[in-house]
Amino acid sequence: MRIAVPREIRDGEKRVALVPDVINKLTRLGYEVVIEAGAGVHSQATDDLYTAAGATVKSGNVISDADVVLSVTSLTPAQMGSLKKGAVTISFLSPVTGTDSIDAAGSAGVTAFSLELVPRISRAQSMDALTSQALCAGYRAALVGAELSPRFFPMLMTAAGTVTPAQVLVLGAGVAGLQAIATARRLGGVVSAYDVRPSSADEVKSMGATFINLELEALEGAGGYAREMTEERAAKQRELLTPYIAKSHLVITTAAVPGRTAPRLMTAQMVDAMEAGTIIVDLAAETGGNVEGSKPGEIVITAKGVQIWGGKDVPSQLPFHASSLYSRNVVNLLTLMTTPSKDGAPVSLNIDFTDEIIDKSATTHGGAKHTPGASEKGGAK
Ligand code: NAD
Repeated sequence: MRIAVPREIRDGEKRVALVPDVINKLTRLGYEVVIEAGAGVHSQATDDLYTAAGATVKSGNVISDADVVLSVTSLTPAQMGSLKKGAVTISFLSPVTGTDSIDAAGSAGVTAFSLELVPRISRAQSMDALTSQALCAGYRAALVGAELSPRFFPMLMTAAGTVTPAQVLVLGAGVAGLQAIATARRLGGVVSAYDVRPSSADEVKSMGATFINLELEALEGAGGYAREMTEERAAKQRELLTPYIAKSHLVITTAAVPGRTAPRLMTAQMVDAMEAGTIIVDLAAETGGNVEGSKPGEIVITAKGVQIWGGKDVPSQLPFHASSLYSRNVVNLLTLMTTPSKDGAPVSLNIDFTDEIIDKSATTHGGAKHTPGASEKGGAK
């Protein structure tokens, strides 16, 4: 059984799906691991380190004869089409927008798993790549904000006078938001945060930040995620947040609703209400933006001198640890569907759709789209 890891081909992608440290977890199960030469170049994972860890490093196409292909971003439809019938892929598949690759996987008889669809149950925490990558993005957001800011973050008592601490506001206190709070606090900022899910209040407080209670209707949806706001609710939220935004030196926005464009938390008018030299970091810039005027991968400077940093491939900006955490997530998911080699029997894949994690994260199987829950109804292939 051969696992292959190709170089990531998407522009700006610096992560790799397996780092050398985890190779032995797979070889111990009985797998052979082949890495495309140069795949780990941005993550300090050199070809020599892979070889020393027990993998084979090969130039050129490594995927067409593989049984399992691990990547960070989705394989292209052409790559899916080149795989062996019955092969398994694990990656972020963007199930809402990446339908071309999913269709190609279905036609090629490939079983394609989407990490976005791994259910958020406690047994699956070690496989939750959305969480591990959001952690990297939240950390990076606070550092970028501090770096762009012309101010100190901590309070300082100096002979030349006292420096007051930076006021940081985090909008959206999920995984990325909480990590942004923790990082901004470590830098010495005074942090407050808002989220539409009241259950996030205790988590915000446990990070040493203040939770802003706007006394608005809670928008707690299924699976711990938020629900979409009505336009009326959104306008009220923006109005009530304006005074908090106006007194902030750094605003970090991380708000998202799964499968939707990012909610608009700040209008151009609200940006204008901020002082010159203040910073906005919009982690949702790639999915439509929480902030009017933000552009993914760019720093927009308003006429008044407010800088809006739009996130693009943010976890990729911390490639070493983003790859390292991602690798553990995919190895844990693959291990769940592996029967290790034992007593002379080779390692094999056991794709058991009665397991909720496997069932919910598979998008295709047996030459067709996979529908979660089908096995309960006796329809799984
Ligand atoms: P996400 O990336 O979908 O959203 C980020 C945050 O934005 C969320 O906290 C959401 O409530 C918030 N948000 C959405 N619309 C908003 C708006 N209009 N205004 C302000 N905030 C808004 O979510 P996420 O960070 O991936 O996860 C959210 C929660 O899911 C976590 O905080 C946690 O409670 C839960 N979770 C559970 C597990 C698990 O049990 N294994 C794993 C990860 C996360």
